[in-house]
Amino acid sequence: MRILPNPVGPNAEFYAWCARGELRLQRCADCGTWRHPPRHRCAACGSLAASWEPVSGRGRVFSWTITHQALDPAFTTPYAVVIVELDEGPRLVGNLRDMEPSDLALDLPVEAVLEPISDTVALVQFRPGSRQRSE
Ligand SMILES: [Zn+2]
Repeated sequence: MRILPNPVGPNAEFYAWCARGELRLQRCADCGTWRHPPRHRCAACGSLAASWEPVSGRGRVFSWTITHQALDPAFTTPYAVVIVELDEGPRLVGNLRDMEPSDLALDLPVEAVLEPISDTVALVQFRPGSRQRSE
C-alpha cells in the first residue's frame, strides 16, 4: 500500500482539481504570477487574491532523480521523479511513466497525465510528449 498525500489548505485545492481530471495551477489575481506549489500569498506582489487557471500539462524535463533502492516495497525500482518546466513557466514534480528512466534527457518534451488514486487526490505523472514547443 502506497503512502498517499493528505493535503490541506491551498495544496488540497490543487489535488482536488487533479482528482476532477483538470490540471490547474494557482495564479495571482493581481499581478498574474503563477504560484506553485500553492500558497496563500503571491511571492511577487504579496497579494492574497488568486484563481485556479488551467495549464496545458505540456513541458520539458528540467531535472530528475532516479531511485534504484526502494525504501517502501510499494515502489518498483528503478523509477524516476522528474521536474518539468511547463510551457506556461511553472515547474511541477511528478513521476515518469511510459519510458525507461535511463532514457531521460534534458529538455525532453513531456506531457502530464493525472492518475486518480482517491476521490480527492490524483497524482501528476509525466510521459513522453511528441509536440514541439512553439517559440
Ligand atoms: Zn502577485
